[in-house]
Amino acid sequence: MAERSWIADALQEVSTLTCVKFVNRTTETDYVYVERGQSCWSYFGKIGGRQAVGLVKNGCMDKGAIQHEMNHALGFIHEQARSDRDKFVKIMWEHIMTGEQGNFGKVNSKNLGLPYDYSSVMHYGAYDFSRTPGKPTIVPVPNPSVPIGQREGLSNLDVAKINRLYKCNCCSSVLAKTKGSFFSVNYPSPYPNNSNCLWLIRIRRNKIFLQFEAFDLQSSPDCSSDYIKVYGGNSKNSPVLLDKYCGQGPLPSIVASGSTMLVEFASDETVTATGFKASYNRVSCGGTFTDSRGVITSPNYPNKYPKNRACFWVISSPVGYKVKNGFFH
Ligand SMILES: [Zn+2]
Repeated sequence: MAERSWIADALQEVSTLTCVKFVNRTTETDYVYVERGQSCWSYFGKIGGRQAVGLVKNGCMDKGAIQHEMNHALGFIHEQARSDRDKFVKIMWEHIMTGEQGNFGKVNSKNLGLPYDYSSVMHYGAYDFSRTPGKPTIVPVPNPSVPIGQREGLSNLDVAKINRLYKCNCCSSVLAKTKGSFFSVNYPSPYPNNSNCLWLIRIRRNKIFLQFEAFDLQSSPDCSSDYIKVYGGNSKNSPVLLDKYCGQGPLPSIVASGSTMLVEFASDETVTATGFKASYNRVSCGGTFTDSRGVITSPNYPNKYPKNRACFWVISSPVGYKVKNGFFH
């Protein structure tokens, strides 16, 4: 069933980036039960026993919408219900459907010391519960054009919120813009001892092309101490695109087969190296090959290839082998 895998994928993102781990229920007495609902809904926080969350097949099956309902169960309110919301949004009461004003209340929340987040999966969209098409119910201030209500997936602050509430000791971030860059902690100064950090790159459609611009990680046999490892997906169970890599070797480049990529960085107790700097962009075609042999074709081959395409293929060989044709595009 497709819904089951969408739900699993959405919850996997939470499990990867926070210390909240979703596992299949076996004999637990308190657990969450996802039911096919008439609406998308959830209790706030733990109720105890079999606790339902309602999801609608064609209503709230986006990754961020599933996470939204599950976040309520984890104890999170709507972002625009925060105690400090009036500094960030204006509620247009006159445009709200009759009887729905209760959805726009404010809570005396403490907000975990984290800033207001327009890009939270817990934020309503501008037109939610509007009585007149085109008339917004929520307007960001002072800049009314700031997007609100995304349901692509957890924002960086959504992850920080979960990690703070559940006292997780996690170093993880989300990169959700179409392109961007990131680097090891303290870069270009040496990175800290015993760190383990994750970056989840998630873009809309397309594929992710990741390039390292600087790379200096302490060498060790099999790169077992300090390393970078890259996965094509949102968990450490996703296919490995770049296995443990260290030293000052050639700068790696990787193309993910999909629109999510997970970058893992680890260091041991003795650090003398400066770390890495990487940037990513979106590409419409290409891929990463890790098998010992393979075939690459242009898009649509043997038909005509499309206009205006830049494709990247990365060929990486198993340790101990050399790639014959190297990296080209
Ligand atoms: Zn909600």
